[in-house]
Order: sequence, then C-alpha cells, then structure tokens
Amino acid sequence: QSNEIVDQLIAHIEEAGMSEEVQVLKTGCFGFCEKGPIVKILPDNTFYVQVKPEDAEEIVKEHIVKGRKVPRLLYEDPTTEEHVSDSKHMDFYKKQMRVALRNCGFIDPDNIEEYIARDGYAALAKVLTMTQEEVINEVKASGLRGRGGGGFPTGLKWEFAYKNKADQKYVVCNADEGDPGAFMDRSILEGDPNSIVEAMAICGYAIGATKGLVYIRAEYPLAIKRLESAIHSAREYGLLGDNIMGSDFCFDIDIRFGAGAFVCGEETALIHSMEGMRGEPTTKPPFPAASGYWGKPTNVNNVETFANIPVIILKGAEWFSKIGTEKSKGTKVFALAGKINNVGLIEVPMGITLREVIYDIGGGIKNGKQFKAVQTGGPSGGCLTVKDLDTPIDFDNLIAKGSMMGSGGMIVLDEDDCMPAVAKFYLEFTAEESCGKCTPCRIGTKRLLEILEKITAGKGSEEDLKVLKELSEVIKDTALCGLGQTAPNPVLSTLTTFEDEYLAHIYDHK
Ligand code: SF4
Repeated sequence: QSNEIVDQLIAHIEEAGMSEEVQVLKTGCFGFCEKGPIVKILPDNTFYVQVKPEDAEEIVKEHIVKGRKVPRLLYEDPTTEEHVSDSKHMDFYKKQMRVALRNCGFIDPDNIEEYIARDGYAALAKVLTMTQEEVINEVKASGLRGRGGGGFPTGLKWEFAYKNKADQKYVVCNADEGDPGAFMDRSILEGDPNSIVEAMAICGYAIGATKGLVYIRAEYPLAIKRLESAIHSAREYGLLGDNIMGSDFCFDIDIRFGAGAFVCGEETALIHSMEGMRGEPTTKPPFPAASGYWGKPTNVNNVETFANIPVIILKGAEWFSKIGTEKSKGTKVFALAGKINNVGLIEVPMGITLREVIYDIGGGIKNGKQFKAVQTGGPSGGCLTVKDLDTPIDFDNLIAKGSMMGSGGMIVLDEDDCMPAVAKFYLEFTAEESCGKCTPCRIGTKRLLEILEKITAGKGSEEDLKVLKELSEVIKDTALCGLGQTAPNPVLSTLTTFEDEYLAHIYDHK
C-alpha cells in the first residue's frame, strides 16, 4: 500500500507541474505502526496518518499546492480530540528519545548521501584519527551494554577481542532477530542500514579486524536488500574496502543468511551456522573474542548495539552516559505489541517506567480493558504486572522482577488473557526451537509443554504444578545455552504471580 501511495503522490505532483520543487522519498519506519501508512511533509513537519492511496490527490492539491493542511488525515489527540499535525506534539513521541532510530523515518535508506548529510561516516573519520585504545575506552566509558539480550558491556567485549592477537579477526553483526513480536533490528536495518555498516567498520578498526559479517535472517528480504545497497554504496564511496578514507585501514563486509532458527541468535551457534555447520551452541569458554569464526578472535554485537556506536563516537561517551540509569546507559528500542492502543516501535531512555511506556506512549489498553501484564524479553523473559508499573525499566530492575530486557519485545496482555495459555504459547516456541543438543532442554521443554497442555485442557492436578516448578528449576540449572536456561522463565513467572489461574484450570473442571 505504501508503494501505491508513493506512486500516487508522484503522479499528482507531476500533474501539478511541481516535480522540480517537490521530492517524494521512501524512508524507513516511523515506529507508529498503529497509524501507518504515514506521510510526512517537510519542511513544515506535518504528519499524516493512516493514509490511503486515494488520499494522495488531496494531499498534493491542498497541502503541496495551496499550503492548506488536510485535517482528516492529521493525528487526533485522544485526550483533547484535537488534530495534531506535528510529531513533537504527539503523545506517542513525546517521551521517546531516538538515538539508535535517529535516522529511521528521516532519510532514504538506499541513499548513502542522505546518511552522510546527517553526519554519517563522520564517526568513522573521527576514529581514524584516534588510537584503537582510545576508541575502545570511549565505548567503555559510554556504559553501552549489549542490546541483544545479554546486556554485556560492549567496550569490554571489544577490548577482549582487541587484546587477543591474531593474523585475522572478525566483526560479526547479529541480525538473527527471532523473538515472537520483535522487529527492532529489522526496522533499524530497513531504515538506517548505513549506520550498521559504519559501526561495524569502527569496531573493525578498534579491535584490529579487516573483515565483517552480518548474519541475518533470510526472512528479512527488505532489510537484506537495503543492507546490500548500503554495503555497495560504501564501497563506491571508499568507505569500505582498502585504505578507507586514505588511511591504512582496510575493512569489508559480507552477508550470511540464517534460516530462522532462534538458537542461532546465541553467538557460538551463530558462528557455527556461518561456518556451514549445524547451528548448535558450544560451551564457553572459549569465548568468540578468543576463538570465534574459524577459530579466530571474533566480536559479535547485535544490530541495535551497533546502531548506537557512531553517535557515541561523535557526541562522546559523556553525552551518552548521561542518558539512562546508573547501570544501564542510553536508550532502548522496544517493539510494543499485544493489547495496546499504540502498537509500534519505540525508543525510550533507560529508566522510564512501564506505566509511561504503556499509558503515555502506548495510549493504554485496547478497548478500555484492564491491564494485566506485560511480557518482556520474549520467550526468555517473564511477566511484569500492575505492581511493577512504576519500576524504572533497565537491565537489572527487570531481572530483579523475574523478567529480563531481552532484545526488546514487549507484549501487553489484558484482563481477558489466560496466563497459563501465555506460558504454553512461549513453551511451544522454545520446545520447537530447541536445537536438541542437550537433554534438559530437548526433553525438559517438551515435558513442560505437555504439562501445560494438560493443565490448560482442564486435566491437570496440583501435583502437576509441583512438577512444573521442579522441572523448570532443573532445566534452568542444567541446560547448555541461554535458550534452555531461560525457557522456563515464562512458566515460573506466571506461576509466581498468577498461580490462581493455574488452580482455576485445575479445579473449575473438576
Ligand atoms: Fe540446544 Fe537447548 Fe541445549 Fe541450547 S539449551 S544447546 S538450544 S538443546
């Protein structure tokens, strides 16, 4: 539909004889999925929502030609029923802070010159005047932690790879986003692929690598196309390849495709998959920083982590570390989904509360229903409930509450959702995605799922609840990788907070 809108806009602009003065550009995602497709008119910053191809004529004839806004296409403020024309005044954007998503919705992702015009590649130029240690120290001082789920300090990870001497090192971008309901990395790659290319080159310079690889799901065709275009353009502009910007630094990037296995988000499994082997994790150590791709020191970061790097280098660690909480610096991108009015992709400073995210940005629960819980961290996470609404969101607080940040999926549940059924949904996913290498996960998740199926079918007993808890703890303690270790989290977290619903399934059917 968006392509049709673009075609219609171009046709009507031509008809009005204004092709010389007015440009129509396709950008990446604005994040406000609930109100898409969106057309933004610049320079007056007018934001038209839920645009249809047949609206293009009116936008051109009224707004472009006569300078009069089209009120019916403007965003309507639900609190005042006023029409809002500027994204700065829309509740969805007011509390957001776009760092990783800074260019999404602003530039044509296929045009490297637009990226360069917004300070693109200035960070790479800057690091080429710095020592490797200075670059690593800047990233360390920023406090940036891995956005893929683990939350490991990025600068420290770079330092490990830098200190491991080898004739060849690798930088890997993990774009194997697989959580149900998550589309953060996809949107960054579709909206601002050049920033990932630049960040990977910066990392290559810092750790001493000449080769970068992006491991991306083959199910993301548009992200792949835009990434390919960004890599190709960077080569043409001398920003990838030999002697980048006239320096001694050489770096290039290739793409590897994943077949959609969730476990390949785990870095050792990802590396095995890139080597053409089964995507199965191995025990750590050795960590990839010592022995990764083909046994060489390899630094793996996810897409969102990389998206922060050019800004940290340009604006400085001090600027970045002022955003967020004491131990979780910067912003976090979340995919807001489920029973919420404003479904979309948001970026917020760490430390914002769940209440602000759900009610101020998300616009509250759909159809006026009661909020019940929000699942954060996808299948590895847990449920936060009403009592957690005022908790500042950061890596450590979410873990303390029995959930986790994960990569940023946030699924909102209302009073009608059945929590044992939610746990069953996630277990179906993890049991299916278990690579089968170790017994606790391969067999354990299946047993957990069978018990959940029994309970939700009204055939369970209190003894089953006991087994659910015990087995969950055993799997957590004994599974080889993060997938298995965190698979029981949705079960344990719903059992802790919503045991009454499990009991209702057991006794209401007796
Ligand atoms: Fe594979 Fe699960 Fe074991 Fe991880 S925990 S290695 S996914 S079987």
